[in-house]
Amino acid sequence: QLEGSKFLLEQGDIPALHLKKNDFIHKGDMGKVMLIGGSKGKVGAILLASQAALRAGSGLVYANIPADERLTCQVAFPEIMYSTELVEDLDAIGVGPGWGTTLHPEELSQLFQKYAFPMVLDADAINLMAKYPKLLHEIPANSILTPHLKEFERLVGSCDNHSIRLKKALELATTYQIIVVLKGAYTCISTPDGNQYFNTTGNKYMATAGSGDVLTGIITSFLGQGYAPVQAALVGVFHHGLAGDIAAKSKNRGLIASDIIRSIPQTFIELDI
Ligand code: AMP
Ligand code: MG
Repeated sequence: QLEGSKFLLEQGDIPALHLKKNDFIHKGDMGKVMLIGGSKGKVGAILLASQAALRAGSGLVYANIPADERLTCQVAFPEIMYSTELVEDLDAIGVGPGWGTTLHPEELSQLFQKYAFPMVLDADAINLMAKYPKLLHEIPANSILTPHLKEFERLVGSCDNHSIRLKKALELATTYQIIVVLKGAYTCISTPDGNQYFNTTGNKYMATAGSGDVLTGIITSFLGQGYAPVQAALVGVFHHGLAGDIAAKSKNRGLIASDIIRSIPQTFIELDI
């Protein structure tokens, strides 16, 4: 049904959505994920997503980037592993940040086939689906799309107002059985069963380069840790906004995406997770 229930996503809702960690876990239990994107000149997007995944608790994080960028990245961010191959036995992937705009649709089809599990699709992965709409039919069920308003309108056509956008987001989610995270102030998460959740964290200082890449890393991390896709999206969006709120307290207009990453640990402390 298209007029599903609407909910506010508030701090009190979050602890119950988190999976518990026991004292005997090892990194293999915390998810092996890969972030795919980062074409030449835009490798930073995938590095932001990869660092965010580590800060959100992933056990092992691979960044899929061009080979000639590897050495520099390895020195700058030693906790990340780098690969030009599609790594086996992954628990989750996030695709799209800085991926490039000249991709062939096969590049995405190949990922859908190889990793036939719910995945995070952002930025240029969304732009590619807008260009080749047949890809929409191939998305693994319960995957999470994270468009900002412009990417969203590329996908569904231009919308006269936000209420129309919200209707179309719900339609997209129910039609393709995916989770649509329509980003912006009060990010709206539409679920395949027709519900919509409005986030209450985040602020205008997050309207800066790389903010969305950080969200992709966080949601991919939770997916890889074994959170159900809707839970991963809800918890990821909430923590991303809360990290931005914490960072904004000291950074104000000077906030950059790396500040959001650095504030992720504080969100777990604040929520006592
Ligand atoms: P992107 O455009 O892909 O970098 O994503 C921007 C991120 O920052 C999303 O997670 C948005 O929800 C968040 N963001 C941007 N502008 C605002 C705003 N005015 N209020 C709250 N969050 C915002
Ligand atoms: Mg983005």
